[in-house]
Amino acid sequence: MFVDSHCHLDFPDLAEREEAILAAMAQNRVGHALCVSVKMEDFPRVLALAERHPNLSASVGVHPDNDGVEEPDEARLLALADHPKVVAIGETGLDYYWQKDAPEWQRERFRTHIRAARQCGKPLIVHTRSAADDTLRLMREEGAGEAGGVMHCFTESREVAEAALDLGFYISFSGIVTFKNARELKAVAQYVPLDRLLIETDAPYLAPVPHRGKTNEPAWVVHVAEEIARLRNEPLERIESATTENFFRLFRHAQAH
Ligand SMILES: [Zn+2]
Ligand SMILES: [Zn+2]
Repeated sequence: MFVDSHCHLDFPDLAEREEAILAAMAQNRVGHALCVSVKMEDFPRVLALAERHPNLSASVGVHPDNDGVEEPDEARLLALADHPKVVAIGETGLDYYWQKDAPEWQRERFRTHIRAARQCGKPLIVHTRSAADDTLRLMREEGAGEAGGVMHCFTESREVAEAALDLGFYISFSGIVTFKNARELKAVAQYVPLDRLLIETDAPYLAPVPHRGKTNEPAWVVHVAEEIARLRNEPLERIESATTENFFRLFRHAQAH
């Protein structure tokens, strides 16, 4: 079985097709998916999805792109994380691509999430874009390695992957690794140790080849696994079992069904 380690099934395009999406997962042997929160306001819908389906789990957190939304403090994150279906804190991190002025509130929010993860012992889902140096610096300063976690939808250099691996983090690849022009990223996918590798869709975004440009869904995480198997010259079954074992080792509160 495959696991989609990162998707957004509460987003409108996907929420309307909940049953069809779950059926497609079953058909493609995608046995589990982690539904990731991006703001407090939407968290109840994310949690409800995980409560309706035994093979979905949830995270709690606020995405760095979301300005002008509810800003949780540590206590609030801890209260919401105290639920058997909430297996991670995030997604959190830094994004200076969409927030070009690199605002201080992003770093404050990230620090709050790292502190909450350390306290509750649930791993972090880290988003980083055009902000790798600050992301790693804050992870070190706040002791993120103690909580552990994943660099999701990884698009950075091999050096950044190395630094994250040194902190004990996992590296998750999305459909971007299937894109023809993603040469540097394909090399990173060959380099990451098998026991630190995760796969994801980040659905509804970033549909992998051969579905590029369409609304993505967890069933298509198989194409990410196929490309990584091809790049590493390994059987698909090996990537399948390694990424699934890695997922349940990292997100140890998630239940396999
Ligand atoms: Zn993200
Ligand atoms: Zn995401």
